[in-house]
Amino acid sequence: MEFIVREMSSKPDTIYVRYDCACGCKPGVEHQKGSDEVEHEGCCCGNVHFVGRGARQELDRYIAGRVAEDMELGGYNIAEEQLATPWGYSVTVAYATPAKPRAH
Ligand SMILES: [Zn+2]
Ligand SMILES: [Zn+2]
Repeated sequence: MEFIVREMSSKPDTIYVRYDCACGCKPGVEHQKGSDEVEHEGCCCGNVHFVGRGARQELDRYIAGRVAEDMELGGYNIAEEQLATPWGYSVTVAYATPAKPRAH
């Protein structure tokens, strides 16, 4: 997945982390400078991404809690990357993509 990081003109010290989803959506989450909070956004197709220092743990917890509801998705592939912020540190993005995505 190709993530796009940009500074928000409407909010100071905030970046928006999004990607162009294969289904046509552009899901994104905000990350504030120095924040320890993890934000996440799910897409209509079943993709979900978490951004923040503890992103991977939050993602794992989310997936574990959704096993029953997401049965038709055929399980998830999970990955994580470090993204550069404008503030000299990297932030984690952890994401899950279903084996059988839902239609948009
Ligand atoms: Zn999608
Ligand atoms: Zn969609």
